[in-house]
Amino acid sequence: MTLAETPNTEDSLNPFLTLNYEAALASLGDDYYDEVKAAEFPQHILRWRNDSLLPKLGLNPQVVKDEDFINTFGKFQGSQPCLALRYHGYQFGEYNPQLGDGRGFLYGQIRGTDGELYDFGTKGSGRTPYSRGGDGMLTLKGGVREVLAAEALHQLGVRTSRCLSMMETGLSLWRGDEPSPTRSSVMVRMSSSHIRFGTFERLYFLQRPDLIQKLLDHVIEHYYPHLAHEPDKYALFYAELVQRVAKLVAQWMAAGFCHAVLNTDNMSITGESFDYGPYAFIPTYDPYFTAAYFDYYKRYCYAHQPGICQLNLEMLQQPLKAIIPQTALEAGLAQFSDYYSAEYQTLMLKKLGFEQLSFPEADELLSLTIKVLQDSQVGYHQFFYEMARTFSVKWRDEPGCILNSSDCVPASGASAIFDNWCILYHKILNNFDPDDMGRIAQTLAHYNPQTVLLRPVIESIWEPIAQEDNWQPFYELIKKLQSRD
Ligand code: AMP
Ligand code: MG
Repeated sequence: MTLAETPNTEDSLNPFLTLNYEAALASLGDDYYDEVKAAEFPQHILRWRNDSLLPKLGLNPQVVKDEDFINTFGKFQGSQPCLALRYHGYQFGEYNPQLGDGRGFLYGQIRGTDGELYDFGTKGSGRTPYSRGGDGMLTLKGGVREVLAAEALHQLGVRTSRCLSMMETGLSLWRGDEPSPTRSSVMVRMSSSHIRFGTFERLYFLQRPDLIQKLLDHVIEHYYPHLAHEPDKYALFYAELVQRVAKLVAQWMAAGFCHAVLNTDNMSITGESFDYGPYAFIPTYDPYFTAAYFDYYKRYCYAHQPGICQLNLEMLQQPLKAIIPQTALEAGLAQFSDYYSAEYQTLMLKKLGFEQLSFPEADELLSLTIKVLQDSQVGYHQFFYEMARTFSVKWRDEPGCILNSSDCVPASGASAIFDNWCILYHKILNNFDPDDMGRIAQTLAHYNPQTVLLRPVIESIWEPIAQEDNWQPFYELIKKLQSRD
């Protein structure tokens, strides 16, 4: 049934159903997906609607009813086929050809008011040919955690998918990592694409260079359109992907974020961050902090993330070399470290109050800051927030004034590393005019919000939901995250 044929019932007034869906991926043909049907749920209780995304769809939040969300993203009314995407991937270093959308599908694609193409992808919408032994469902806590991760990262300036909606679906699920039975949810993610590195890896495994070529042309047309008419567009695509991924991982590192499952099926071909399972924000600067309890060898620990992303990009060369010369792929990847370091330094300097700082002070300040964070084991986010909270023009007077009204850092004389950091920060402040202090204070405040999505914070909002079905703390937390409070 096409949209024009949609019956003139209440539903035809549903603004989500009258959006102009583009069958971009569907037009590639069924080598890339399977048509599936959504599960029917006993309940649809809308727990989260992300009104801040609606203007991007050309919709006014005030005219979109809760019922519209439920009918579209819980009951999956609508005319376009739901597509479970096929992909493989390297999981913890091992190739797995048994993947694919096992609990989700692509509901539809929409051109945003910004001209970009967006996917509505589900999570927890039922079984598909790729569910293997799984139930195709998402726990309510899993849904809550992904909503929060995406909002928090977005506000911290990380290029990320967002959640458009999340509803409770009334099933009891059994999980090894949650007290069970546990409640169920279905979530809809709005992302730039669900095409993953693993989508290409599958086609290499199947020895289908023709399908790799077709998919690559599709990716360039929709996600790298400025390259579409370049004679060496394929090499330029890979070089830009390297840059986008290097920037993304720098954003995670500066935000103190550990994704936890950096398998190649969780790496987007657009360089956007997505799929938040057992992630965590680091409590303190610990390079080996590991978020997933099943990551026994700390493969995806905090400090390994840049190297792992680089490795994943290198593995992507295998399918791409059917189309792109090896020398071009190598030249592209050779830029990764420079892109990463430059972006990480820029972002960390902003957290330290500086929009720009000249070399070599920038290098010196960054490495000394990391030493302080690692040596003192002060809260990673607390350290920067305290800088923002207590910053004063008096910090120019003498190093001992810096952070001296904060009890989260070592007292003067107690740590040589911290004292040296104060001396350096003091020296740098004195390279600026007194008039610049206001701008530094603003930069500190802008990049270091008070509310951080540490695990105890998530647990503190989950408890009222689990114990009393009280969602107020969840909404208040999102409001704080969204206002960078
Ligand atoms: P993830 O760890 O969420 O990236 O998922 C890895 C693979 O396992 C993907 O193919 C998922 O679709 C699949 N999967 C994860 N959880 C389930 C589930 N409850 N039921 C079916 N498939 C699942
Ligand atoms: Mg995944």
